[in-house]
Amino acid sequence: MNVNQSAPPLPPFGQSQPVYPGYHQSSYGGQPGSTAPTTPSGAYNGPVPGYQQTPPPGVSRAPPSSEAPPASTAQAPCGQAAYGQFGQGDVQNGPSSTVQMQRFPGSQPFGSVPLAPVVSQPTVLQPYGPPPTSAQVTTQLAGMQISGAVAPALPPVGLGYGPPTSLASASGSFPNSGLYGSYPQGQAPPLSQAQGHLGAQPPQRSAPPQASSFTSPASGGPRMPSMTGPILSGQGFGGPSLSQPNHVSSPPPQALPPGTQMTGPPGPPPPMHSSQQPGYQLQQNGSFGPGRGPQPNYGSPYPGAPTFGSQPGPPQPLPPKRLDPDAIPSPIQVIEDDRNNRGSEPFVTGARGQVPPLVTTNFLVKDQGNASPRYIRCTSYNIPCTSDMAKQAQVPLAAVIKPLARLPPEEASPYVVDHGESGPLRCNRCKAYMCPFMQFVEGGRRFQCCFCSCINDVPPQYFQHLDHTGKRVDAYDRPELSLGSYEFLATVDYCKNNKFPSPPAFIFMIDVSYNAIRSGLVRLLCEELKSLIDFLPREGGAEESAIRVGFVTYNKVLHFYNVKSSLAQPQMMVVSDVADMFVPLLDGFLVNVSESRAVITSLLDQIPEMFADTRETETVFAPVIQAGMEALKAAECAGKLFLFHTSLPIAEAPGKLKNRDDRKLINTDKEKTLFQPQTGAYQTLAKECVAQGCCVDLFLFPNQYVDVATLSVVPQLTGGSVYKYACFQVENDQERFLSDLRRDVQKVVGFDAVMRVRTSTGIRAVDFFGAFYMSNTTDVELAGLDGDKTVTVEFKHDDRLNEESGALLQCALLYTSCAGQRRLRIHNLALNCCTQLADLYRNCETDTLINYMAKFAYRGVLNSPVKTVRDTLITQCAQILACYRKNCASPSSAGQLILPECMKLLPVYLNCVLKSDVLQPGAEVTTDDRAYVRQLVTSMDVAETNVFFYPRLLPLTKSPIESATEPPAVRASEERLSNGDIYLLENGLNLFLWVGASVQQGVVQSLFSVSSFSQITSGLSVLPVLDNPLSKKVRGLIDSLRAQRSRYMKLIVVKQEDKLEMLFKHFLVEDKSLSGGASYVDFLCHMHKEIRQLLS
Ligand SMILES: [Zn+2]
Repeated sequence: MNVNQSAPPLPPFGQSQPVYPGYHQSSYGGQPGSTAPTTPSGAYNGPVPGYQQTPPPGVSRAPPSSEAPPASTAQAPCGQAAYGQFGQGDVQNGPSSTVQMQRFPGSQPFGSVPLAPVVSQPTVLQPYGPPPTSAQVTTQLAGMQISGAVAPALPPVGLGYGPPTSLASASGSFPNSGLYGSYPQGQAPPLSQAQGHLGAQPPQRSAPPQASSFTSPASGGPRMPSMTGPILSGQGFGGPSLSQPNHVSSPPPQALPPGTQMTGPPGPPPPMHSSQQPGYQLQQNGSFGPGRGPQPNYGSPYPGAPTFGSQPGPPQPLPPKRLDPDAIPSPIQVIEDDRNNRGSEPFVTGARGQVPPLVTTNFLVKDQGNASPRYIRCTSYNIPCTSDMAKQAQVPLAAVIKPLARLPPEEASPYVVDHGESGPLRCNRCKAYMCPFMQFVEGGRRFQCCFCSCINDVPPQYFQHLDHTGKRVDAYDRPELSLGSYEFLATVDYCKNNKFPSPPAFIFMIDVSYNAIRSGLVRLLCEELKSLIDFLPREGGAEESAIRVGFVTYNKVLHFYNVKSSLAQPQMMVVSDVADMFVPLLDGFLVNVSESRAVITSLLDQIPEMFADTRETETVFAPVIQAGMEALKAAECAGKLFLFHTSLPIAEAPGKLKNRDDRKLINTDKEKTLFQPQTGAYQTLAKECVAQGCCVDLFLFPNQYVDVATLSVVPQLTGGSVYKYACFQVENDQERFLSDLRRDVQKVVGFDAVMRVRTSTGIRAVDFFGAFYMSNTTDVELAGLDGDKTVTVEFKHDDRLNEESGALLQCALLYTSCAGQRRLRIHNLALNCCTQLADLYRNCETDTLINYMAKFAYRGVLNSPVKTVRDTLITQCAQILACYRKNCASPSSAGQLILPECMKLLPVYLNCVLKSDVLQPGAEVTTDDRAYVRQLVTSMDVAETNVFFYPRLLPLTKSPIESATEPPAVRASEERLSNGDIYLLENGLNLFLWVGASVQQGVVQSLFSVSSFSQITSGLSVLPVLDNPLSKKVRGLIDSLRAQRSRYMKLIVVKQEDKLEMLFKHFLVEDKSLSGGASYVDFLCHMHKEIRQLLS
């Protein structure tokens, strides 16, 4: 396959290294090593050894896994008689089925269960909310600084903040609040798309001044009249009064007398409520050491800005004070400003290095030569020219790529280009694909590669004349010459074994052990599948899906089903020799849905009955995946396994696990083992799956520890998804499970994919994060890739870049579509390069930076103590900000915390990452929860990590009921909650409805149909359907939030002061957390101190 094919040892491109150290290609599929010559070429097909799947001759696997229905008893070493009983004939035909059944209790012969008609339609997903409006590109960037106006006042050193050793110090003790128990565990990660929230924000507020500087401690209101510190040129200080003060002085400003409210001038939205929530005060002594007691009140000359001890007045030795939360950068404000400034015009991708609107802004994209930000987002759109600069800044250079991202209906899917038998046109040397940046020369007879500068001949059939500007006259007729994203039809050279692929298959593999039956899962699932199989993904206008389906059930043994259309009843085949898995039947296992509908329906009706009385509690796991993979191999196709599993696989079999959960390891050097798989067997299995294009989606229904860290290895390495529904009960969880299942089964998937990222000379991709497998250092192999998954790629310099030519990325994804068509999807992106660090800082995107940093940290916990990982993040953040301060901000007092405009939210967001469950778990967060979240975040896109780490909190009764838009969010802090209001909080996985204790009775009645607050059921997960405007609005809003996320968020109603409230407070991320995580204010102060240490 050619995506990988790199040319012979040609030098300068990063990509073409011939040798892949570190990975043995040979180890595939249990082949004895060494078959694989180290050719630089890639994974697929002919010349490519690495990918071959058929075991080399002489391999020891007994039943040649592929083909050959092991009908012969001889081969089946099973100790059980079961298998041996089937003669070929029995297996494949004839109604005889009873023989096989003996293996499980409770089973009954397939009788004459009436064929149930196919029922209900699954709901159709609606991926996108209302059409985005559009955005206008403004370049707002400029250095924003939290500069400490208060400079003088600040005792140079951390004023009063004890030398916080590091945030980590704050960890440690977990007050145990037992409430975590109900951690809504399963909630899945939102794979959603950047699509913003519909909701327009109130148009107020003008754009932020370009650079803002923010004094740190001081809080005062926004715009202080007299800033002491020098102000960056270009930063309008007095400028448009931003709603959000940009100038914050970092060392904590003086304390406000308790209860004092900063009602600065047009400051940020005033805390909605003040007095009774102790929230803020409590935090002040946070993690950073002593000294933050209540402060005397420093009278300030500015009425609205009480703080600034330092201002004009004589500097007084300030006792430590706390920052005014309204004076520090607010995520809400930044999001709102971006929506207002960029939400109304389309983002046109013509120009190089443009920073797109934020992921929280709803905008349309016009592709004019660069890939849409829905496909690629970068940490910076302006890359330092030299590696020295890059090292100095410490800003990671990374791209978050979502190759198959779903687009809103207003935007066209990539065009498919067919270059006929010759296949896509590529550079002979670096193998980059034709793209708008290639330069045609010599009258159009040749083209110079924009990645490696190689001059290539233009094949005669592709020749075209150039216009007076040197552009081909047909440039606008050809997507590959004018667009950032497009597809090529792949030729047979791009296919495994030089054969066009068969359509993929889906195999449903259902745990029928005691727990699965008892919880009602099996019955629910079988009922659902009867209709869901009518909604398998299909291509374009195809009438029916090309995907074939198969069914397996299992506990300690596996049961395969023959559902061939010619059968009157399905037949079951039991394989009890799980140690050496093979597929007992070929014909009739994978079938076309419409042809075999009657048999399938009959099977799904019978499964719950057959196992109804089972006593079997033990399960196997690895053999199930092995079986599915072997079935695909035998059918010579790629596909997906949907596994529905309930327990730790303790039955004797390969991949058997033991319970090794041990919370005592938390905060020790051995904590990392909790995240590591307990056996290498699953990696080996995953490799085989990848080679076969077998993607695994895992639905877990655990009642206790199941070792998610180990069970998720195969889904993770095959590009699959994991869903978790702890303590599953049909009544409580069916909606969430069915919703996730429908979406998962219906979503478009690319199979058997390989992704390669090429770059222009000077930088290259060096590291990758996501759900995939790599057998060399450049090719990202994805057994499956859906429209929700991202791959994050980090780049490093290997040469000097040039400002004039900029830097180019080309992501090529070779995959098999749902209909079995082999295609290449290409995304191109051109970035600017700079010799001034200020340009880097002006073109950064914090949300993407956080996405990268979270993934980096979450991978780090596999190998390093969690404290080390946290410290590394803090240090990196401090270095990034210190470098800006030193090189880009104008000289100013050390007391000023100066943040770049584009990164002013870096501290608050990073703090959210630091106190997330993976890096700083609360007492009730289980080991499985942590492993689960860790795994989810790995493939999240930027919009998902954004809301996951900083949840959205929406007040419900503040805005007029008639208003169709989402209410404006408020900051995630208890201080922002009014006890007379109701709020929705969501983070893509969890959804809470918080009810204040003093909410009007009318509101309570309208929403809950009860007469008082005390009668509301805490923990309620469904709101009654009532015919009044408020009820409709709130339920509508909940539906709309769910539609924006890729996993169903189960609602939990939380009453103020109720026990469950602790669970909710966990998500108020600006506050100090129970597990010891710092509040935003404390963290900002800590960050300031770290920066000052670096600068001194
Ligand atoms: Zn080239």
